[in-house]
Amino acid sequence: MGNAKWEQFAARMRELTDLGRALSLLSWDQSVVMPGKAAASRARATATLDSLTHSKATDPGLGDLIDDLIDDPSLDDLRRRSVEVAKRDYDKATKVPDDLVRALAEATGIGYQVWTEARPASDFAVFEPHLEKIVALRKEYADAVGYANERYDALLDDYEPGLTAIEVETVFAELIDGLEPIVDRVLAKAGPAPAFLRGKFDVGAQEAFCQWLVGHLGFDTAGGRLDVSPHPFTIQISAGDTRQTTRYTADELLSSVYAAIHETGHALYDQGLPEEWLDLPIGHYSSLAMHESQSRMWENQVGRSREFVGFLLSKLKERFESSLGGVTPDEFYEGVNHPERSLIRVEADELTYNLHIVLRFELELAMFRDELAVADLPEAWNKAVEQHVGLRPSDDRKGVLQDMHWSGGMQGYFPTYTLGTLYAAAFYAKAETDLGSLEGDLKRGETRRLLEWLRANIHSKANRYDTKVAAEKVLGAPFSPKPFLDYLETKYFELYDA
Ligand code: ZN
Repeated sequence: MGNAKWEQFAARMRELTDLGRALSLLSWDQSVVMPGKAAASRARATATLDSLTHSKATDPGLGDLIDDLIDDPSLDDLRRRSVEVAKRDYDKATKVPDDLVRALAEATGIGYQVWTEARPASDFAVFEPHLEKIVALRKEYADAVGYANERYDALLDDYEPGLTAIEVETVFAELIDGLEPIVDRVLAKAGPAPAFLRGKFDVGAQEAFCQWLVGHLGFDTAGGRLDVSPHPFTIQISAGDTRQTTRYTADELLSSVYAAIHETGHALYDQGLPEEWLDLPIGHYSSLAMHESQSRMWENQVGRSREFVGFLLSKLKERFESSLGGVTPDEFYEGVNHPERSLIRVEADELTYNLHIVLRFELELAMFRDELAVADLPEAWNKAVEQHVGLRPSDDRKGVLQDMHWSGGMQGYFPTYTLGTLYAAAFYAKAETDLGSLEGDLKRGETRRLLEWLRANIHSKANRYDTKVAAEKVLGAPFSPKPFLDYLETKYFELYDA
């Protein structure tokens, strides 16, 4: 009995997976190669597939199968986990009334459009009623799906299953306590950024370099592609098809190179998910923070380490001799790590980046605890930036209007960036505990041992556990921000003799 039901369940999961693959391919195509004239017809095709997916994901027959299987003692642990994840998704999808789904889609569609105009004009008043509507609908959404302690838990759960606002608050408080003194001490010593970072860098040569680099780091180009898009991203289309993008500008070299390293971290994770599980809920990535832990580790712990930077520079000099010929490894190391206080999150460096996330989380939480009104957001934002970053935005364009997330109804998303960064440092420290120092490897540009460790401990586990549990299993201890703080202290105190 159990097996026949399982087969029916697995067939439904395969069908949902295939619809998801079609949607992923449409989305990649739209971001990378689709002609602009196709926008309207593509939007319709996507909406049709979305609604077909939604009706299959909420089909009562699927709910019955899940109910039958959830208590089936004949299922092994792997199958039980898939059914449990499917139940969580099914319950969520069926608890939200159709008119709320539609209202949210409409409000965020218009909200995003208005935001794209409000930001360059620095005009929060235009955006305010739309954001008010989106926040109200997201509160309704949280109430519909339910939560452990408070509304924000429901939003967080969409990105980090099982994590609560209180848990994030606790981790972030410990992070801020440790981080702010390090930032103050380092920035007192760090001067202006080195000038060699700007110059002329042939785009064709950058492209050839990045194609070589991603392959060198282990990205399987027979099972993936590196293309170009204005906002770099990685997407797994299906087994054997993981696509990443970067962007090239002729007067800047590091943004294409470091975007490619970051996205390769995402792509290696996708390429390491076990193929035999890919059609099942257990085969998906564990959460956004887990995904980001992979990209940040390759970008920062590997890509910005003194050892790897020396290797990178020697390889870059082969192609960019005229601009980089006179640059020493020490200068280049300082250049790729140079920290400063800044107003814009996406331009922030490794040292100060998380200050930007913590303030967004605090503001989101206050809104969903009914302690902060949307109308008071710009002033609250400016105060928070002053408190955490030490600067005051000159206008809302460089303040509360800078990110698209809230216009898209993505409240609860921001913490995943910082959690991923903290996991990255903790995992890397554990990898070095298990493998011995990786400095010698990185000096030679060699990352195979690290990748094998990640494959064995993280990638091959896919979605066997929620990230919180998965991290504890990898680390053999509860997770904390301490490895990240230790990493920053060691690196930046040495770099600036602070
Ligand atoms: Zn990322």
